[in-house]
Amino acid sequence: MKDQIDILVSLQEIEIESSSVKTHLCSISKRLDLLSSSQNELKQRITDETAKIEELRKLYRSHESDIKQNQVMIKRSQERLNSIKNNREYQALLKEIEELKRTNSATEESMIDYLNQIDDAEKKTAAMHEELQFVENDILQEQQVVGVETEAAGKRLKELDQERQKMSGKIEADVLKLFQKVQSQQVRGNAVVPVQDAVCHGCYVNIPPQMYNELQRCDKLRMCPNCQRIIYWKQI
Ligand SMILES: [Zn+2]
Repeated sequence: MKDQIDILVSLQEIEIESSSVKTHLCSISKRLDLLSSSQNELKQRITDETAKIEELRKLYRSHESDIKQNQVMIKRSQERLNSIKNNREYQALLKEIEELKRTNSATEESMIDYLNQIDDAEKKTAAMHEELQFVENDILQEQQVVGVETEAAGKRLKELDQERQKMSGKIEADVLKLFQKVQSQQVRGNAVVPVQDAVCHGCYVNIPPQMYNELQRCDKLRMCPNCQRIIYWKQI
């Protein structure tokens, strides 16, 4: 029975390593996912900011053409002033010219405001482009690392699988069946655990003294009465 227990311990070690390799694979692909989602987010923010700049430029141009039109009207009105004899009409036209000038100066102020906003947005976009460049460089580097690590992990998993098959061939059918059954019942943790100084290393509860004595004989498979894992005696 001692050799069967040793095989079970080896099988358990294979399972532990397999699952840590798989967890590592999962974590490296998550690292890439994280980078790629910040890349997408930055691209979206750049698109939004560029659209905003375009909109501000359109507004700026439309204000510019309003001012030009008003200037033409002001010029025409000023020319007409010379030919007007009626005082009331003259005053009305003067008022109209003043109104147009006031409108133009308000429009000019808005244009300055748009220019400032465009300037800010352009600076923001440039900074985001720079950040995007960094993220894209990181992605390239990370892709290489992930490639290498994935290949190594895949190779190791294959080796572990071969070892598992080899071990499974040496184990008695009912022992293997019990191992698989206990393993399927463990949501977390191992199916085969050592007992050291009467403490089960699956649940960290003491096993009864009588059972601890029997366990040291290594003559049959025993289960922890508390966590139902397969236990074996391990000297401290
Ligand atoms: Zn236990």
